[in-house]
Amino acid sequence: MALHDGPRTDSSGMPTMTSLEQIEADGHERVTICCDSRTGLHAIIAIHSTRRGPALGGVRMWPYSSMEDALRDALRLSKAMTFKAAVSRLPFGGGKAVIMGDPARQKRPALLTAFGRVLDSLGGRYITAQDVGMTVADMERIRRVTPYVTGTAVGRGGSGDPSEMTAIGVVHGMRAVVEELDGASGGPARLQGVRVAIQGLGKVGYRLAALLHQEGADLILTDLDHELADRAGRELGAKVVGEDEIFEATCDLLAPCALGGILNSKTIPCLRCRAVAGSANNQLAEPEDGERLQGRGILYAPDFVINAGGLINIAVGFGRGGYDRAKAERRTQTISSRLKEVFRIAKARGCSTATAAERLGEARLRSSPRRRAAER
Ligand code: NAD
Repeated sequence: MALHDGPRTDSSGMPTMTSLEQIEADGHERVTICCDSRTGLHAIIAIHSTRRGPALGGVRMWPYSSMEDALRDALRLSKAMTFKAAVSRLPFGGGKAVIMGDPARQKRPALLTAFGRVLDSLGGRYITAQDVGMTVADMERIRRVTPYVTGTAVGRGGSGDPSEMTAIGVVHGMRAVVEELDGASGGPARLQGVRVAIQGLGKVGYRLAALLHQEGADLILTDLDHELADRAGRELGAKVVGEDEIFEATCDLLAPCALGGILNSKTIPCLRCRAVAGSANNQLAEPEDGERLQGRGILYAPDFVINAGGLINIAVGFGRGGYDRAKAERRTQTISSRLKEVFRIAKARGCSTATAAERLGEARLRSSPRRRAAER
């Protein structure tokens, strides 16, 4: 196995300026690139910050078109995790791992074991969990070679799949969004009759759709996996549309629950929603997209605020006494008040909600005591 600290992205083994510039600008503490020819593992572990605690963030497996793409994703995702933990006042830093490959065809036990060994060599600076393309069973496999893994089975002392709490958190966030759009009604906003378009019906999106269906919301669904989308449509009595049509769906809320970068200069002009509120990480392709949404009068629930339920679930599992689901649900409810705080800041400062959330995260980071090296 070859282990290289730092970016190595082109064929000559030299880092590209783009990646280096990005790492420097974002202040990542460590970026590890791992290649193991025996198992075919090509992975990147990006640690953005351990200031508040060990860098925590899921591992994503996706068929990236290049190492550069995978690196860019890992860098952006790990930075977002730092902000997510800071805004939610959780004792974690930000990190993320990506494995290049198609999870359906290339995810093998030996590859996960090789990934686990690299993780172990980082000595707990980074703790992993499941993200896109990963499951509880995969976390159990990784746990065979390292303790630095969470999101393992509840029956074995873990906190389980964080996706369920992520979906619950998005529902609480949606209540805050509806209240902001329509005014407070003297209690948590009801989602009955609210029209929600969901992009991505994976671990989070499917659960979100089921919860919203129970609340009487009117659903429009899409997924790259058409069979999955059709099944969900039948089960939940929802309308199913094509991948591109979702952006033009007339709805109250658009819920991105697939990959990042989907709110951009091409999609934002087409949107016919009143607000965006979903679980996907890094929904904005560029920082200016927050202002683009504001310019169109679309309320944006910043991703790292509304999708913190899974991280909260993991934090409860780390707490004294072990995992307690009721406690995790109670804490996840606070996503609603955190979003309202972001909306208040945006109004007071006359900025977009994306900028307001970043400012809140920066302020929380500045005021966090730096943990001593021995504690990290
Ligand atoms: P997943 O892999 O289980 O599901 C993703 C789904 O999106 C898949 O069904 C895939 O086919 C679909 N998809 C991908 N691209 C699409 C497109 N262009 N159009 C329509 N469908 C598309 O992943 P997940 O765990 O549900 O995570 C979804 C998003 O939420 C990711 O951005 C993830 O980083 C974020 N997130 C997840 C958690 C969690 O607890 N799992 C927590 C916080 C944030």
